[in-house]
Amino acid sequence: MEYPIQELFYKQQQKSIELRSTNCKDRIIKLKLILNWILKNRSLIQNALSKDLGKSAEESDITEIYMVISEIRYAIEHLEIWMHPKIVSAPLTLIGSSSYIYNEPKGVCLIIAPWNYPFSLIACPLISAIAAGNTAILMPSELTPHVAILIEKMISELFDPSEVSVLNGGVDLKTKLLALPFNHIYFTGSTSIGKIVMTAAAQNLASVTLELGGKSPVIVSECANIPDAARKIVWSKFINVGQTCIAPDYILVHEKVKDKLVEALIYQIKRMYDENHLGIHTSKSYGRIVNEKHFDRLIGLLDEAKIKGAKVVFGGNHDRNSKFIEPIILCDLPDCKLLEEEIFGPVLPILTFNKVEDVVFKLNKNPKPLSMYVFSKSKKFSENILLNTSAGGVCINDCLVHYSHPELPFGGVNGSGIGKAHGQFGFEEFSNKKAVLKQ
Ligand code: NAD
Repeated sequence: MEYPIQELFYKQQQKSIELRSTNCKDRIIKLKLILNWILKNRSLIQNALSKDLGKSAEESDITEIYMVISEIRYAIEHLEIWMHPKIVSAPLTLIGSSSYIYNEPKGVCLIIAPWNYPFSLIACPLISAIAAGNTAILMPSELTPHVAILIEKMISELFDPSEVSVLNGGVDLKTKLLALPFNHIYFTGSTSIGKIVMTAAAQNLASVTLELGGKSPVIVSECANIPDAARKIVWSKFINVGQTCIAPDYILVHEKVKDKLVEALIYQIKRMYDENHLGIHTSKSYGRIVNEKHFDRLIGLLDEAKIKGAKVVFGGNHDRNSKFIEPIILCDLPDCKLLEEEIFGPVLPILTFNKVEDVVFKLNKNPKPLSMYVFSKSKKFSENILLNTSAGGVCINDCLVHYSHPELPFGGVNGSGIGKAHGQFGFEEFSNKKAVLKQ
């Protein structure tokens, strides 16, 4: 049954009180419902992702469906331990008392998602919200309508709207929802909209998780394993056509190995997307830009860089009708917008450095990134960067894979985000740590 927004919110408030005392078994039943629905409807999810983003079935399996399945399985396995009150010892002044930390559900939660991983970025926070005993209103991105409708179908088949509900709509509807006194708001999207969400949350003093974006750098040292680095950079940059929040945004490579790296990157792009020499546009593994607006934004950034003197060393073919942009590698970049805003597309600028101190200085001058990747065989080099800079997460000699580790917190810092997701960190994000002292 559908309710008007105010009534839906009121019903969820009522339900959230009922859910407070649910036990681990009650919550696991709900998680299993979602798991079984996904396993049964895998091809529907693949089709919707293919229609909205041109993703191949394999890519959808790896980056969306598998991510959600493993998040659910991990939560089912660990929920009992997460929910158990933590006993804390008493200080001398309170000897004789016993103290506990309870993870209580926050209450009514709002989850707003972006379009780039439109299924997993609504489902994963939902898993954490349900595991923590909350109700939730889900708002998918309006830019991926097939997935949005599918999420609505899934939730309406599994839950009463008083517990979990989907509201599909654009900015106007989201603005209306943000005015309601949610207990927690979990937003994934751009830094600029994150500020709007946090401002709205402040009116009701709702707690927030902001999973935002930014420019995630890759640093390649003189002694890095170049073929290995190139393979990992190409895979992580061009999966989903660069439309990944933690995709490498730009490379900072030691000037002595720049040419070797460029050669290795080109080799890997051809190997991954043009093995039969028919052109990358024919590759089934290479997706498309989400819409014309983002296509025009990317071509605009590219044109400005080229006019100012950036050199295209690979790729650059594009076709607005099919929203296809070939992977592009750029060198000799002047000051331009490509080096200021998050690229979020298949354009890979390469900058050089001479001394590690210059890298540290440059990284500390920029906003703190969501992720940072360091390729080096020198522990001293990696540690220098790790300890002297800040980022939401770091991979050494790899890219992206920290996202899939269930025991690592995922999230940004300041401009790239507030709060952490995944596994126990996600559960705690949707929980209030209640201090209890028994005398
Ligand atoms: P976006 O900020 O434009 O939109 C995100 C969501 O906010 C959408 O559902 C949109 O409808 C909604 N929205 C837009 N304007 C709003 C407003 N004024 N009030 C309330 N809601 C509003 O982001 P996007 O273009 O969908 O996604 C790309 C961005 O998301 C990139 O910056 C990327 O780095 C980031 N991202 C971050 C993560 C992460 O986990 N940190 C994951 C994926 C994407």
